[in-house]
Amino acid sequence: MNGVPLVQKIWIGPFTSFGYGYFDEIPAAYVLKYLDFQTCMNFVKVNLWTWKNGTQYIWEQLNDHLKNPARLNSTIEKVERRDGKVYVTVNGEVEEYDKIIVTAPLYVPNKRADGQVGMVDYFDAREDEKELFSKIDYERYDVQAFLTDPDKHPEISYYVFDNMVPGKLGHLMVYYRRWKDKIDQVITTYALRKHKDSEEIPYEECRQMVQDDLKIMGNPAKEIINEWSVYYFPHVFTDDYAAGWYDKVEAMQGKYDTFYAGEVMSFGDMDETAEYSRELVERFF
Ligand SMILES: Cc1cc2nc3c(=O)[nH]c(=O)nc-3n(C[C@H](O)[C@H](O)[C@H](O)COP(=O)(O)OP(=O)(O)OC[C@H]3O[C@@H](n4cnc5c(N)ncnc54)[C@H](O)[C@@H]3O)c2cc1C
Repeated sequence: MNGVPLVQKIWIGPFTSFGYGYFDEIPAAYVLKYLDFQTCMNFVKVNLWTWKNGTQYIWEQLNDHLKNPARLNSTIEKVERRDGKVYVTVNGEVEEYDKIIVTAPLYVPNKRADGQVGMVDYFDAREDEKELFSKIDYERYDVQAFLTDPDKHPEISYYVFDNMVPGKLGHLMVYYRRWKDKIDQVITTYALRKHKDSEEIPYEECRQMVQDDLKIMGNPAKEIINEWSVYYFPHVFTDDYAAGWYDKVEAMQGKYDTFYAGEVMSFGDMDETAEYSRELVERFF
């Protein structure tokens, strides 16, 4: 597995295999937002770690300390903005607000099995919102969690660099073994199945490709216990980025008593998303 030069491995390892797409389709600005010097060096030095209780736990703890905690299990079905007010239909009831900050997906280009839609589908979206947000695409990033015989998994997680190129779309890129000192554990795999310039590989086909890769590598799955095709890393492509997509959306902040945040406004990870939200609130509120 030595086909990819070292200098490229430093970049594609933490980028493509983490589901952020291929270097010939993704604007370089996204790569640089995410892979700042410190993040890059952490990967080079394998200075990687995970949260003991998972990341969900961080947000649950944060929520417990908020003056106005998030209301859970509340689906926003409709939003109308008129006469300087925002009318939000949530769980069947209409509520009135002065402003709204959208952190849910702005646009979902095709029907998804999980029913996730974009804000343009349930807001009284204006023409400029529809026009700009329709440029957003996302990564089809598939995760499988499986069990294998303890003697069948390698000692550490591994990257398959040769599979991080568009020609190997749909193949396993990462095999993740979370705890290095524990043999009996769930293993997760990650694969991308869409590139801007080629046909999307159907979910089932990609799933099977990953299973076959596992067999070839001598780590076959005994039982798949969870699987997920994620709405992942919403982004725009190079032409739209270069044509000022971000400048135009930033100029629309507050225009319809609406502010746009969430990962698409910065980058598809927690660090950048939280940082952007904080900056947005400091700027406008
Ligand atoms: C498998 C996977 C692994 C990842 N690994 C990492 C990692 O290791 N490190 C890292 O930093 N980032 C990681 N990420 C990325 C990170 O999770 C996202 O970048 C981040 O969660 C984006 O935050 P957000 O608030 O924009 O969107 P989300 O966290 O997706 O929040 C949006 C929320 O809006 C809700 N919503 C949508 N529509 C409606 C509606 N109509 N009404 C009410 N609610 C609605 C959704 O249910 C969701 O809770 C990973 C993501 C995935 C999927």
